[in-house]
Amino acid sequence: MYDLLIQQAKLACGDTTDIAITNGKITAIGNLTDVTATHTINLAANHFISAGWIDGHTHCYPNSPIYNDEPDAIGVTGGVTTVIDAGSTGADDIDDFAAVTASCQTNVRALLNISRIGLLRQNELADKNDIDATLNKAAIERHPDFVVGIKARMSGSVVGENGLAPLADAKALQCQCQHLPLMVHVGNAPPTLDDIVELLGEGDILTHCFNGKPNRILTPEGELRGAVKAAIERGMLLDIGHGSASFSFEVAEQAISRGILPDTISSDIYCKNRINGPVYGLAHLMSMFFTLGLSHEEIIERVTQRVASALKLPTKGSLAIGQDADLTIYDLESATVTFNDTEGDSRQGEQRFAPLAAIVGGKLIVTEKGQHTHAFNS
Ligand SMILES: [Zn+2]
Repeated sequence: MYDLLIQQAKLACGDTTDIAITNGKITAIGNLTDVTATHTINLAANHFISAGWIDGHTHCYPNSPIYNDEPDAIGVTGGVTTVIDAGSTGADDIDDFAAVTASCQTNVRALLNISRIGLLRQNELADKNDIDATLNKAAIERHPDFVVGIKARMSGSVVGENGLAPLADAKALQCQCQHLPLMVHVGNAPPTLDDIVELLGEGDILTHCFNGKPNRILTPEGELRGAVKAAIERGMLLDIGHGSASFSFEVAEQAISRGILPDTISSDIYCKNRINGPVYGLAHLMSMFFTLGLSHEEIIERVTQRVASALKLPTKGSLAIGQDADLTIYDLESATVTFNDTEGDSRQGEQRFAPLAAIVGGKLIVTEKGQHTHAFNS
C-alpha cells in the first residue's frame, strides 16, 4: 500500500508513467497495475511530471535588508520544490536563516557567503576582516544538510580594493570542506573575468554566465574567451542567474549558436524582480529558453538532474526509486509571452511552462492554476 499514487503522468520525452510514493520517497515507477494507495491522482496523460524543479540561485532570507523574499513565494507557489539561496547569509546569520525557514513547505538550502555578514551590505567582501576561515568552517559544520556550498561575489562593487583575494580565500575554504560546490558571481571588473576563471574548475559554478557587461564570457568578436574555455574544460559549470542585471539575449544567442549551453537554469530571484519582473519566477525563465532553441527535455534537465549534480544533492533531481519524492506537475501551454533581458532587449515566445503542483517529500501542494485543474479536483 503506497501513500500516494500518480497515474498516467506524461514525461518530457513523451512517455507516460505511473509513480508511487511511500514515506517521502519514490518507491515504484512504471506501469503500476493492481496497486493500492491512500491517495491517487490520475493525470490521464494530460499533464507532465518531472523530478521537482530546483532553483539553484535565489535570495530568500526573509530578514535580509537588501535581497529578501519568502522561500514558499519563490518555491512551491511556482512549482519549485527546492530553492538554493546563493549567499544571502554568512557565518553571522546562517543560524537565523536555517531557523526561520525550517517550517517552509519548500526545501530550502544555502550557499554560505564567505563574508560573515552575508548580504548585509552590497560590498560584503570589501573588508578582509569579514572573511574569517574559522567562523566559515564552523558555520558549515553546524549545518551539514542546510549549507550545500559556498558563494563568492567577485565584482568590483563587492570586493572593493581586495581584488582576487576573496576568491583565493573561498577556494581555500572549499579545500577544507570536502570540496563543497563554490558558486562565483561575475559582474563589473576588476577583477576581470579572465582572472576569476583562471582560479576555477571542477566543482565550481560561474553564475550570471550570460551577463551583458564588459566582463562577459565572449570576446568583442563573439568568440568564447580562451580562459573561460579552459575553465570549462577543467569542469567549471555555467549557471544563468538571470536576476535584475545579469542576462543578455545577445550574449545568450551568440553563445548558444556556438554550442555553449548553460549547465543550469536559475533565477537570482528576490521579491522585487519576482513581483515587478523581469524574473517573475523560475517557470518564466524556463519558458524563455524555448526562444533560445532549447528543447523541453533540455530545459527540464537544467532545473533537475544537472542542478542536483552541480550542487551535490544526491537524493534529488531524478525520477528514480529511492529518490526523495520531490516532483513537479505542469502543463506546457500555448500563449504569447514576452521575455525581457536586463539590457533593454526582449523576445517573444509561443509556449510556456505552467506549474500545477509541487510534491515535496510526498506532500502535495497545488498551485493556484492547479486548483482549476480537474486532476486535483476529482
Ligand atoms: Zn544572486
